[in-house]
Amino acid sequence: MTLNIGLKVKEPKRKCTDRNCPFHGNLSVRGKLFDGKVTGSKAKQTITLQKEAPIYFSKFKRYARGKSTIHAHVPNCIDVESGDFVLTAECRPISKSVSYVVVEVRS
Ligand SMILES: [Zn+2]
Repeated sequence: MTLNIGLKVKEPKRKCTDRNCPFHGNLSVRGKLFDGKVTGSKAKQTITLQKEAPIYFSKFKRYARGKSTIHAHVPNCIDVESGDFVLTAECRPISKSVSYVVVEVRS
């Protein structure tokens, strides 16, 4: 059975037995959403993703290119490759630097 996680996202087609899966496990999502491009997918069940956000300097009236990078957990039922655009949702901390979980891959 797939749980309703409260977000309008596509449900994964596969089932999984991952405890840290918002659809099939015990992980609840709440808080912020973060969407970005996957820049690293080598680690097991963890990806890094990056988002560009301009920073405005009022002193110079100019924008600088800002980036923010986070780590996110990938449940077993979702396949993610480097270069994909994904949507992640905040969850409880899974490890030291991982407190987001992938909920959708946007192709
Ligand atoms: Zn799952």
